[in-house]
Amino acid sequence: MRISRLLRRLRNDFQLSIITLMGLFGVLGISPYAVYRLATGNYLVGAADTTIVLSTLFAVLYAWRTGDTVKPGVYLAAVFSVGSTLIAINLGVNGLFWIYPLILFNFFMVPPGKALLATTLVLATLVGYARLVPGTVFESNYQMLSFLVTGMMASTLTFIFAYRTRSQRERLQQLAIQDPLTGARNRRAMNEELRIAASIRRRHGNSYGVLVMDLDHFKQINDSYGHQAGDQVLVDFVELIKRASRQEDRLFRFGGEEFLLLLPNTEKAGLQAAAQHLQKQIAEHLHGPGGAVTMSIGGAILRNAEHWEAMLKRADQRLYRAKSAGRNCIIIDDDDAQKAQNPLSVG
Ligand code: GH3
Ligand code: MG
Ligand code: MG
Repeated sequence: MRISRLLRRLRNDFQLSIITLMGLFGVLGISPYAVYRLATGNYLVGAADTTIVLSTLFAVLYAWRTGDTVKPGVYLAAVFSVGSTLIAINLGVNGLFWIYPLILFNFFMVPPGKALLATTLVLATLVGYARLVPGTVFESNYQMLSFLVTGMMASTLTFIFAYRTRSQRERLQQLAIQDPLTGARNRRAMNEELRIAASIRRRHGNSYGVLVMDLDHFKQINDSYGHQAGDQVLVDFVELIKRASRQEDRLFRFGGEEFLLLLPNTEKAGLQAAAQHLQKQIAEHLHGPGGAVTMSIGGAILRNAEHWEAMLKRADQRLYRAKSAGRNCIIIDDDDAQKAQNPLSVG
């Protein structure tokens, strides 16, 4: 049970698994060197090895305990870079071999820009030191040049690879939660964020409200003016709602012309006010080719210890009642139907 939980964490958190793997490499791979160097009297390299091993252990434990992999990543990249540089200065060519895995290591630990900077600093320090104290680090100028060129090639290629991978991953993450037509978050994102909201409600007592919004007689727009005209109305709708809602509110498209707005820190009165404001904005500013377009709204406040699906169901039932009450209408929780002040209708 415990083991399977640890394995699940490793599987789901790539950065944590890399830090752990590097921790394993660090401890198993470098400890023997540390012992050997200390035993043979090379105290500087021995101390550098020991520091690297202990730092690695510390960073791995920190990452596991806090779930934060950013700080341990920066810390490990810094310790390994400084450590490898010291070792290479001290051991010469025998130490230089370690710079190549260090280059890869840095790109796994920190963002590409930072990794490139760290690697450049390492190469510059080694070459600078060799120039300052001739006869150290490299056996010849030719060797120094070869090291510099191969080191720079390795870091540039790794940088390009890491940069590409990173931007593709960010793009994929974006695509996975976004509705391509309107740019609103999609249903997958909605389920996830409602789940998180319910768990925050349970743990910390924060209040959440939701508004389920459905455009009135939307099918008529499609039927009369074509699918593209309908699409444009959806795009304009999202634009208007985003502009009229608070920054912390989250808009999701969870059906064809059905949207959900999640409002954090919102009680019933606030939810009612927000719904009226949005309804007014839409009724006044959303125009299809056939004229004004309105929406109906069902709202609910997340109850304590309630499953988010139950809340969604309540909001949906209110929406259904708002439709039956004549559309362009808001019904929240167990309130009576509240017709809009200036009902506008289409079709
Ligand atoms: P009501 O007032 O009861 O909500 O009526 P309605 O016509 O809005 O509702 P209905 O559920 O009958 O129709 C919804 C329509 O939305 C049907 C479907 O073709 C259309 N729709 C769904 N997704 C899209 C889309 O992405 N683009 C366009 N243009 N239309 C869509
Ligand atoms: Mg509709
Ligand atoms: Mg609908």
